[in-house]
Amino acid sequence: MHAATAAIPNSADDATMDCWKGSEIVGRNRSWPIPRIRRSLRRTLAATGVLLAVLAWSGPSRADRPFAPDRAYDLQHSTIRLSFDTNQRKVIGDVTHRVVLLRDAATAIEFDSVGLRIDSVTVDGAAAKFEVLPEKISIPLAAAHAGDKHNVEIRYDGSPRQGMFFILPDKNYPNRPRQIWTQGEAEDTRFYLPTYDYPNDRLTTDTYLTVPANWETISNGRLESKTPAADGQTVWHWVEDAPLSTYLISVVAGEFDRTEDIWHSIPVTYYAPHGRGDRIRTTFAHTREMLDFFSTTFGVAYPWPKYSQATVDEFTEDGMENTSATTLSTRALIPPATLAEHPMREDDLVSHELTHQWFGDLVTCTDWTNIWLNEGFATLGEYLWAEHAYGRDEADFERWNEARDWLGDERMYPIPIVYSKFTDSMEYAPNIYGKAGLVLWSLRQQMGPAAFDAGLKHYLEKYRGRNAVTADLANAIEEATSHNVDQFFQQWIYGAGAPALAIHYTYDEAAHQVRLAVKQSQKIEGAVGLFTIPTEVELTTAAGAKRFPIVVSKADETFSFPADSDPLLVLFDPGDTFLDAVQFQKPVREWIYQLRHGGTVPDRADAAAVLSSMTEQEAVVTALVSAAHDDPFWGVREQAIESLAKLGGQRARDALFAALDDPDPRTASVAATMLGVFQHDPQVPARLEAAFRGARYVRVRESALRSLARLKSPNAYSVLLEAMRTDSPDDGLRSAALSGLGELQDARAIPVVMDWASPGRPLEVRPAAIHALGMLDTRNAKTTRLLLSFMDERISPVRRAALRALEERADASAIAPLEAMQNRSDLSAEFQENVRRAVAQLRKVTGAGGGSPAGAAAPIQ
Ligand SMILES: [Zn+2]
Repeated sequence: MHAATAAIPNSADDATMDCWKGSEIVGRNRSWPIPRIRRSLRRTLAATGVLLAVLAWSGPSRADRPFAPDRAYDLQHSTIRLSFDTNQRKVIGDVTHRVVLLRDAATAIEFDSVGLRIDSVTVDGAAAKFEVLPEKISIPLAAAHAGDKHNVEIRYDGSPRQGMFFILPDKNYPNRPRQIWTQGEAEDTRFYLPTYDYPNDRLTTDTYLTVPANWETISNGRLESKTPAADGQTVWHWVEDAPLSTYLISVVAGEFDRTEDIWHSIPVTYYAPHGRGDRIRTTFAHTREMLDFFSTTFGVAYPWPKYSQATVDEFTEDGMENTSATTLSTRALIPPATLAEHPMREDDLVSHELTHQWFGDLVTCTDWTNIWLNEGFATLGEYLWAEHAYGRDEADFERWNEARDWLGDERMYPIPIVYSKFTDSMEYAPNIYGKAGLVLWSLRQQMGPAAFDAGLKHYLEKYRGRNAVTADLANAIEEATSHNVDQFFQQWIYGAGAPALAIHYTYDEAAHQVRLAVKQSQKIEGAVGLFTIPTEVELTTAAGAKRFPIVVSKADETFSFPADSDPLLVLFDPGDTFLDAVQFQKPVREWIYQLRHGGTVPDRADAAAVLSSMTEQEAVVTALVSAAHDDPFWGVREQAIESLAKLGGQRARDALFAALDDPDPRTASVAATMLGVFQHDPQVPARLEAAFRGARYVRVRESALRSLARLKSPNAYSVLLEAMRTDSPDDGLRSAALSGLGELQDARAIPVVMDWASPGRPLEVRPAAIHALGMLDTRNAKTTRLLLSFMDERISPVRRAALRALEERADASAIAPLEAMQNRSDLSAEFQENVRRAVAQLRKVTGAGGGSPAGAAAPIQ
């Protein structure tokens, strides 16, 4: 799964600026506030400690069970028949489960089921009694023995509050394509289907979906048939005959555009809501190459009878790896006009979900405690694909950012990847995605790709169609390769933290030796211990570079290396092959040398970051200016720009002006963003205005608008209004301008902001407008009432933006209406929880008292 970022009504660029305002990153070689334009906003948010705030907007309300429950039966096969009453947002279901009892003397069969109205139950064709409990349906058994087989049929209906979502046209948006979609992970399938809802069971499925004849449907497995039915309906029959866990069941139905490919006789299909089919090719262009690449790398051919990628509106995640049928957010769709703005398209997301088809779907974690076996590999898949398709530098830079993100999130440091108190994936995302991906990549470096991949092949083959825990992976690697990974797993997977290394060196002229002192300065406590790290040291002298293997294992140790002269550069762990926080004491001239001549992107990016804290020297600015312009890799240029912005001054500013024309849109956009910190420099607003009007990339123009607002330049208001009159793909410029108008807090903007916040205006723009409206005229109760009225619309980005705006404007008059809303049945369980949290927050900041028990939200777990 890839978590959603929909909670933020503005674009990613803007939200990263939010993070930047109030956060400090203490990471590899650095400690200062950083703005970043990241490939995954979630990661940035997690890294900068903003994740908690975001969770209040998007996190699941229910803690998921860390360990697998006992099984009373094996659910072998489900025949699922669903039809829909869209007017009532209702699912009408008929499911037949084939179960085999696993124990003697069972008195009942229980299925997970929440909020569904059960019509009837039969067991082996005979009517059966049943009891509906809050989260289960229980069917008594007379005499039961292990091995008994039963067919249990349940007829039911319901309007699910989680798990299944209806996206429908309304009076303001009469042409919205109809869409019904599900999201099972973690334990939400039970909201639309009574079933065994935990990963430690696997079943095959027949899924029959009855929908209007002009609809598409997508579900797991192959399409067996399409049969006309009464009343202009069609019955689609999908068959999945390789076993999957129930959280990976998917149903998507509605009005979609479809594009088809074939890969080795396997159908590869893509869907976008009707009218956006032109975005399919730009977004998913590399899917078939990825199928080749991962089949080869993992040593196991793509294991399902088809692969479909369906994009849906208002998806709760960025992507979800349902078996053979990935669902993705339409936010991932790239309009053809903006393809140049996305040098890697959405390949991180696409490769992440595709990797899950092996890691997660073919072999599934037994319980949520071991979910890193899903997400760590999916993150590794992103690096492997990035390296294959875009080169080592690109993959290195992704890892470099990921490491800084993780090191910047102090909450994660004392918690191991496999964590017995695990509750939900988003809470521990930096560990189970970020750190786990880095750790797997390090292991691949340490073992060598060939051995590592052989271990994976064996793991996939041995546990094919089954569930696994961490020990199974370690054993499989050892069986296949004779590499013992126990110590590695102990320190990185079962243990917590990462090494914090204090390093310095001296050169002994007489002995011709470099002595390198390495100290592990992390606090040894809890699950954090000393680390054993095999790595290398690279010495560069006038005669050239030489590498020496070392193993760091003690709290404090010194290594000696021969050197013909005083080194120009000493690199510890060149290329940053493992996760650590390093304080390497080197003279400035050596950092400058590293920035210019470092052989890998991480080494140069490290130097660029460290140099930002060395203010006095003119030579530092000169080196950074040159790197910002000349480094061959865009990410190093970006890092140099960030460092220059921190140092400030005219030369730094001029370098950022030049970087507005950087050939890479990511670097140019960061330059525009960073110019927003140059207060009191009269030349900056003029240059940003020119960038808004003339920059080649829309994202640079958007960043320029936000920086103008941030600087509150005299012209900002009129430039933002000009941007409000400017069309761009998906209204990116208008959204950026609206964010800026909110930030300016100039009451003259109210009419235009209110207009774009109104029902009927494009849904791409309204969240930004609503958020901006919240920041304007905060004492005006009429505006508060207008924001409250948006909560009545059944459009989740609108509701989220309205709730966030209400919370931020801190008008106490919103408390009572929100309180009245918090148990409303048209809100998802998750959103109800968000409303409760907002009420509690409003009480706190307005001093409106402790409130009713209903208003007291629990702390975010
Ligand atoms: Zn994932």
